[in-house]
Amino acid sequence: MAKRDYYEILSVARNASEAEIKQAYRRLAMKHHPDRNPGDQVAEEKFKEAKEAYEALSDPRKRAAYDQFGHAGVEGAAGGGGFGGFGGAADLGDIFGGVFRDIFGGGRGGAQGYRGADLRYTLELTLEEAVFGTTAKIRVPTLVTCAACAGSGAKPGTKPTTCPTCRGAGQVRMQQGFFSIQQTCPRCQGRGTIIPEPCETCRGNGRVEEQKTLSVKVPAGVDNGDRIRLSGEGEAGEHGGPPGDLYVQIQVKPHPIFTREDSDLYCEVPISFTIAALGGDLEVPTLDGRLSLKIPPETQTGKVFRIRGKGVKPVRGGPTGDLLCRTLVETPVNLTREQKELLQQFAETMEAGGKRHTPQQGSWLDGVKKFFEDMKF
Ligand SMILES: [Zn+2]
Ligand SMILES: [Zn+2]
Repeated sequence: MAKRDYYEILSVARNASEAEIKQAYRRLAMKHHPDRNPGDQVAEEKFKEAKEAYEALSDPRKRAAYDQFGHAGVEGAAGGGGFGGFGGAADLGDIFGGVFRDIFGGGRGGAQGYRGADLRYTLELTLEEAVFGTTAKIRVPTLVTCAACAGSGAKPGTKPTTCPTCRGAGQVRMQQGFFSIQQTCPRCQGRGTIIPEPCETCRGNGRVEEQKTLSVKVPAGVDNGDRIRLSGEGEAGEHGGPPGDLYVQIQVKPHPIFTREDSDLYCEVPISFTIAALGGDLEVPTLDGRLSLKIPPETQTGKVFRIRGKGVKPVRGGPTGDLLCRTLVETPVNLTREQKELLQQFAETMEAGGKRHTPQQGSWLDGVKKFFEDMKF
């Protein structure tokens, strides 16, 4: 099978800078990395192809050889060993590091033009919005077809002309020793046309960056990391290619009261030590109102009460989760002299009564005693 042109694989110009090549590779690696596409043979092939192209073009010596002789030049120059030492997974930190507006995916060349890049947008939601669903308005930067030149890239009133290097074929044939190598035309990058007078608005790209506002319907029950795909809302395609997709990634802001774990919600409920001892009704918050919780007498701190069905209904279906309230018995503060005296009297009655009032302390003291005994050896 004939190898594709490395520049074409990475969708970069032949004079692309090292940074542009690296960025282009990052996009493709993000999209096609095997970790992201388990079992997908096509993605794996594309990942390998991009990796090979990046290895060749990121090395100035190999790149020069490739520019001059095409694939034959690089394979010869590699000294029989192929390209060495580029471990895929080990480099992912570098590849993914610092990617903010991460554009993964990217141009597939060909007669029908380049597909626009996919975009990712991180949407921050409150817990309530994530649980009950919402409609969010988002503004995303995107490349749209240039209105001035209608996407042709040519200055209004002028037209792209046939590439003189390949005479419109998009491919050139080069003689190298015994080999005749067919490769993508370096002048027009395979398009067959060049733009003699570029459009001033888009500098010949045919696309301009614009902010657009989109309305995103977020279904009830989404959680951190869920993605919503907006088909065709990514960047505009190049030269008549289809647009990419926009992926909206959900990020849920921390809630002052509740934390979420799958479909369950958790909250901490401070209770006074009198209610803990005597029992009583307590008002607890839920995401959609208040609820009365019966605290039985002799409730210890850390006791968890489960309120069925007051959690989250998961977006992918399944039963609604529960609300779990963990009690936290509070030691009273700011006591008056009288209250302190009452507590003192209370403590004396506890000692005089001959009953054990501290369920944990007995076994705790036994443990401490054993600990010190063991230490003697
Ligand atoms: Zn334009
Ligand atoms: Zn050409």
